[in-house]
Amino acid sequence: MFNGDFQTYTCPVALDPQIQLIATPKVEAMHDEKSTMRISSSSLLTERYWAGSGVNKNKAMVEHLEHYGVIKSKKVAEVMGTIDRALFVPDGTPAYVDTPMAIGYNATISAPHMHATCLQLLAENLQPGMHALDVGSGTGYLTACFALMVGPQGRAVGVEHIPELVTSSIKNIEKSAAAPLLKEGSLSVHVGDGRDGWPEFAPYDAIHVGAAAPEIPQPLIDQLKPGGRMVIPVGNMFQDLKVVEKSRDGSISVRSETSVRYVPLTSRDAQLRGY
Ligand code: SAH
Repeated sequence: MFNGDFQTYTCPVALDPQIQLIATPKVEAMHDEKSTMRISSSSLLTERYWAGSGVNKNKAMVEHLEHYGVIKSKKVAEVMGTIDRALFVPDGTPAYVDTPMAIGYNATISAPHMHATCLQLLAENLQPGMHALDVGSGTGYLTACFALMVGPQGRAVGVEHIPELVTSSIKNIEKSAAAPLLKEGSLSVHVGDGRDGWPEFAPYDAIHVGAAAPEIPQPLIDQLKPGGRMVIPVGNMFQDLKVVEKSRDGSISVRSETSVRYVPLTSRDAQLRGY
């Protein structure tokens, strides 16, 4: 089991890619290939992330991700620079290190480069006024980023099946730059089984799934707008980050972006039992 300390991590199933990268750096094909490997192994990483105040450290993290080509667009840099990651990690947890962190309930907050990768893949579908769904919203970090990107005329919806995480994610968002959007109602987080999507605000231009599904849930495909894009890790032990696109005529295409390792998209009971 993963107990929150990646030095003592022994279960190969439960996490997304950076633990794997740090624990077994030979797995070069895992996830973001070269840029990820460079980020994980760079001494710059720790030096830069640990210097300065929180806001400066968040900025340094974003600059680092830009430097290594994970963040490619100004908009993604701006949004990740505006939403301070420290507000979303548990107290006492290093916020800006490029690794996932345990958040309780056998869940993790994804690593910064994974958040950046997904934001980047979805950026075109997160234009002002668009609708975005974040399945397995956990800490609420990405939901908050989505909300800033789609703005007050858009809609950012988080769905998470652990009620305590929904409550804490709302508290996190209330402290962040996305708080006004939560208050005004363009951002919302709901308790639910994300495999069913969230029909109330469908169809979605962008769907992000933060946990690995054995196969792509049909309700999520149904709730994707023509012209929409979904990013979803698919698999069990071996997982691919899939990019699913629905064309204007409704046909679906799926491609693999990279190999990843996420916690499973599963039932609440299975997750609380430890899978
Ligand atoms: N992206 C989030 C959390 C990633 S961990 C972040 O970075 O903070 C994956 C999350 O998916 C966990 O919070 C877990 O509780 C949730 N999850 C797993 N299966 C789910 C399901 N069927 N429905 C809703 N949420 C689910």
